[in-house]
This record gives sequence, C-alpha cells and structure tokens, in this order.
Amino acid sequence: MKTIPHYYDYNSAEPFKAAILEIRPLAAGTSAVILDATIFYPEGGGQPADRGAINGVPLLNVIEKDHEILHIISRENAAKLAAGTVELALDAERRRDHSVHHTGQHLLSGTILRMTGAYTLSMHIGEETCTIDVDIKELLTETLVAVEEEAQTAIEEERPVITHLCPPENVLDFPLRKQIPQVDEVIRVVEIQGCDFSPCCGTHLRSTGQIGALRVLGAEKYKGMTRVYFIAGRRVLRDSRLLRRNAEIVSRALKTPVAEIGASILALLEKANEREQKLKFFQEEDAARKAKALVAAFANTDASSGVEDAGKPRVITASFMDADMEETLRIGKSAQSLIPAVLVLASEAEVKFAAFSSVKGLDIRGLLKNELEANHGKGGGGPSFFQGMFENLKDLHAFMAAIR
Ligand SMILES: [Zn+2]
Repeated sequence: MKTIPHYYDYNSAEPFKAAILEIRPLAAGTSAVILDATIFYPEGGGQPADRGAINGVPLLNVIEKDHEILHIISRENAAKLAAGTVELALDAERRRDHSVHHTGQHLLSGTILRMTGAYTLSMHIGEETCTIDVDIKELLTETLVAVEEEAQTAIEEERPVITHLCPPENVLDFPLRKQIPQVDEVIRVVEIQGCDFSPCCGTHLRSTGQIGALRVLGAEKYKGMTRVYFIAGRRVLRDSRLLRRNAEIVSRALKTPVAEIGASILALLEKANEREQKLKFFQEEDAARKAKALVAAFANTDASSGVEDAGKPRVITASFMDADMEETLRIGKSAQSLIPAVLVLASEAEVKFAAFSSVKGLDIRGLLKNELEANHGKGGGGPSFFQGMFENLKDLHAFMAAIR
C-alpha cells in the first residue's frame, strides 16, 4: 500500500493520526517505519527531509526509496512502536524554514533568469546557507544587488504562490523555467505569479510575502557555472544579529563607527605590520649583540677552524634565563656566522635547547645524543642543527653541565 502524502496540505501544529503498516529493520542500527499516510516530507529535489516524532519517537530522517516513504528511527526506539494508530508530530519550525528557502529559491532563480537569461541547474537547502548553481560564467556584485532588490520587490508585493496539478500531456502549456524531472501521473507546477513557473515536488509558502526577506550572501565560480549563496526569512534576522554583534565588538574596540570598521581594520593591520617589521629589526639587532658578547671570549683563540689543539671541536654553551626559544634560535644563528664552533644554547624559560655547528665535517648528533638520553631529554635534528627538550630544569642543567 502506498503512503498518502499529506505534507503539501498539512499546515498545522495539531498532531496528525496515521497507522503504522510495517516496521522494517535496516542496516546500521536503524529501522524504517512505513505509514498509511504521512505529514513528513522525504528528502528530495534539494530540500532536506522533515523532522518530528511518531508517538514521541524522534525521526532521524525521512527518505523516499522505490516509491516507498521510509521514516527512519533508531533500532532501539523501534521496540517502542507497533502496528496500529500513532500520532505524528511535525517539527514545524524546521519545515517552515525549508518552505521559506524553497519558495525563496524559486523567486531567486526566476529573478536571475529574467534579469540575466541564465538558468538554475541545481539547488541545495543547507543547515547554514543555501545555494543555487546558475548556468553563467560570472555574476557581478552589482547584478546580485539588483537581483536582491528585485526579489525584495516581489516579496513586498505578496505575490501568490500557486501549485498546479497537471497531467504530463498539458505540462508544456506552462512557460517552465525547468525541465520536468520525471513523468509521474500528475506533475506539480509551482507558479509564483508574474515571476516563475517551475515543476517541483517541494513544499512551498502561500505567497512571496511569507518569505519576509531574501539575502544574496555572495557568489563564486563553480565548475564553469556560478554558485550563488543565499538565506531567507528568519535566517536573515539571525545573520544580521550575529554580524551586528560582531561589528559592535570591533567598533567599540577600534572606537570607530560600525560603518567604518572595515577601513579601520585595514589601517590597523598595516600599522601592526609596520610595527612587526620594526620589532623584527630590533630583535635581530639585539640577537646580534648578544651573539657577539657570547663569542667574544673565544674571538682571540687561534682555533680558526673551530677545532682545538686536542682535535676536539670548540664548544660554546650558554643558558638564557628569560629568552624563549625563538630568541635563543636568533642568537644561535647570529653567533654561528661569527665563529666556527659548536654552540649549545638553552632557554631556561622553555626548558629547551638548540645546538648549532659551524665546524666543517662535524656531526653534532654524536656529541649530544648520549647526554640527552642520560638526562631524560628528547630531541632531534641533523649534523649541524639539533633541538631538544627536558621535563624539568634540573635535567636541563645537568645536560648543559655535561656538554660543557
Ligand atoms: Zn522547487
């Protein structure tokens, strides 16, 4: 027996009674309930499925498969239902949101077609934003604004939305925006008076006025087409609230009127960038100074190759109390260019160290690894650069002492 669809005419918060014909276990811990009649729209044509409950059991999804409408519930909950009369409760807020966006989409697609000649090839009603894919290479911002204004005019004019139930042989009497998807016994043609005719199985509002508002959020190139993002109805309110709230935070922080925060942010970023450059310059200068002081004691030794008389590499160590690793690395890099040696520099602030070598042909890993392991440190690197860390300062100190 086929489920009688009532999702087009059911328009009330009152519960609806139907009979369970079958409860069928499905894969993945779910079951499908098959009813003699339903108020739940099954996912299709870009419109998501309704939500709600059957005798209080929440619906996970509603799908149409092989001419059957399957009401998906969890397997666990299936035990709570049995064949016979049940009460269906629709999540009316979600349904209204879908109808608002579906009618809004027809209005938007019809308006774009009229103003640019481009057809909509697909649409999607998402949880956050909705999209249509329009068969045109590009839609300029000015065009999108003009489309938005034109759609708003149609909303203000409260144009009736009429559903024509039409036998297939008569469907071409309508100036359709879209091809007929499949040949059913009856084709639903949704008309927005003076704006659009489209064959459609979705749920719709009674007039464009119920859309309330429609915002085109933007457009991007997509597979040779243009993907247009939009929201309508209460989502416009929510979006506006969110943007306003954020804009006001920025406005207060910058002491700038909301209308000017964009320009203010850009100016601020430019200033911050300049400061960053200056800071970098001073940091490098500071590191160079510290590096010079560090190697000064060794500058007069004649081990110009970095290897001392006994064939051992010259090792320079230092522990910095306040320097973080970033600064320690800057000092190390700078010192490395001043003198051939192995530099082992520790940041006590971060309980880490870095080792640099400018001694030709030397692999510092051999020099460090044993002491690193002996003092419970972790680290890694290559022949001329090595980094490591310790759990505590005591281990770091012991390691540094051993290296020295
Ligand atoms: Zn539609």
